[in-house]
Amino acid sequence: MNREFQVIVVGAGPAGSSAALTMARAGLDVALVERGTFPGEKNMFGGVLHRLPSLEEIFPDFWDRAPLERHIVKKGVTFMTGDSSFNTIIEAGAFDRTPYNGYTIFRPRFDRWLAEEAVRAGATLITQATVDDVVLKQGKVAGVKIVGRAGELRAPVVVAADGVLSFIAKKAGLRQPVFDPGQIAVGVKALLDMPREVVDERFGLVRDQGFANEFVGCTGGVRGGGFLYTNYDSLSIGLVFHLGSLRTSGKTPYDLLNDFLEQPQVAKMVHGGRLMEYSAHLIPEGGYKMVPELVGDGLLVTGDAAALCNATGLNLEGINLASQSGVLAGKAVIAAHEAGDFSKQGLETYRQLMNDSYVMKDLKLYSKAPHMLHNDRIYNEYPELVCTLMEYIYRIDGAPKENLTKLFLKSAVQKVGLGNLAADAFSAWRAL
Ligand SMILES: Cc1cc2nc3c(=O)[nH]c(=O)nc-3n(C[C@H](O)[C@H](O)[C@H](O)COP(=O)(O)OP(=O)(O)OC[C@H]3O[C@@H](n4cnc5c(N)ncnc54)[C@H](O)[C@@H]3O)c2cc1C
Repeated sequence: MNREFQVIVVGAGPAGSSAALTMARAGLDVALVERGTFPGEKNMFGGVLHRLPSLEEIFPDFWDRAPLERHIVKKGVTFMTGDSSFNTIIEAGAFDRTPYNGYTIFRPRFDRWLAEEAVRAGATLITQATVDDVVLKQGKVAGVKIVGRAGELRAPVVVAADGVLSFIAKKAGLRQPVFDPGQIAVGVKALLDMPREVVDERFGLVRDQGFANEFVGCTGGVRGGGFLYTNYDSLSIGLVFHLGSLRTSGKTPYDLLNDFLEQPQVAKMVHGGRLMEYSAHLIPEGGYKMVPELVGDGLLVTGDAAALCNATGLNLEGINLASQSGVLAGKAVIAAHEAGDFSKQGLETYRQLMNDSYVMKDLKLYSKAPHMLHNDRIYNEYPELVCTLMEYIYRIDGAPKENLTKLFLKSAVQKVGLGNLAADAFSAWRAL
């Protein structure tokens, strides 16, 4: 099978389908190549989908048509120790008005729908097609080869949207061949079936409202955190670990997830939920310093393939960045077709658009966050400090009270040490 297109997109995740949709709407002959039986089949995330400014521009009724679950009106953080927890919750009126700040979604449904929209716009979707090589012509990427299929797909430009392990970016020499485990995280998730009225009642939700909660201090000493998101009639709950720390611990994600689900504070939330699905996936969490060369001769790299994930410890943003980069890559390819120049220089528009977008600006702003998060105290001593302090504050037992500042300093010395506290505060100030 030898076929010629104007552009080939590898990977029909949010980055690839956003790119394909953008280019197909502009009239380009686009191939969207996906290894799954259908787009989204193998894709998972936490997860909350946030606003997608560039896609909304070319697809104004996006939020009316996309297959969404609940919109997030409540966001919480829970600091946990073995037997105590302290919760902070923001329930913002602004989050309960359109345009909503975020929605829970299911990737198999969402990714499939977005790829179908690209097809409706004119893209050719080729599924069950794993790309295992790039075609080079005079040193420029000029197509791809698909496992087990004779011939090749040819195009003057290829968009790599093949996710965190991007074979294409590696093959073209745009990213390092081996990852630093300090820059990669692994996420594990359980999907628990739960009647809609139980979800509403348990988490204090009405209509289509949703709740998103993060957990710190729940990963058995491994650097990482937990998450819980409400869908209409199920809960997505899981843990994310720094790969290096997980490897050193010798623990398995599966055992840690089971321990998490059995902790009393979490057990109450998931009680009665029936396990429907268990999944795991890698996350590029190295931030700005991990972003590879975005442009090569005949090649653009988008989404997780370009490590465009913003993990600050407060939020995990990936799909919005992936979609934004896909749209911008699409715009750069359209411009390159108009100019008839697919060299690295001809595709430079992509880098410029990216540098001007919130994607690179945010990654740059939080470029020190990944380093800050490699601090074991965040996952062990600080949750204990927070819980201990709150317990002192709320304990009324007839004993004379202590001055709060003195109490804080005493607990900080005991749990963390004043030197560490000062160093960590400085590091957080620089990172956030
Ligand atoms: C546990 C977890 C929680 C997360 N939570 C959130 C969250 O709450 N919010 C958020 O915004 N982000 C979250 N993310 C990050 C988010 O999922 C990613 O950033 C996003 O999916 C990246 O999109 P992408 O299109 O670049 O890559 P992907 O979604 O990985 O898509 C890549 C596509 O390429 C296909 N592919 C790969 N290799 C080939 C090949 N050789 N040939 C053909 N096809 C190929 C794959 O099948 C896939 O369809 C989370 C991630 C994880 C793992």
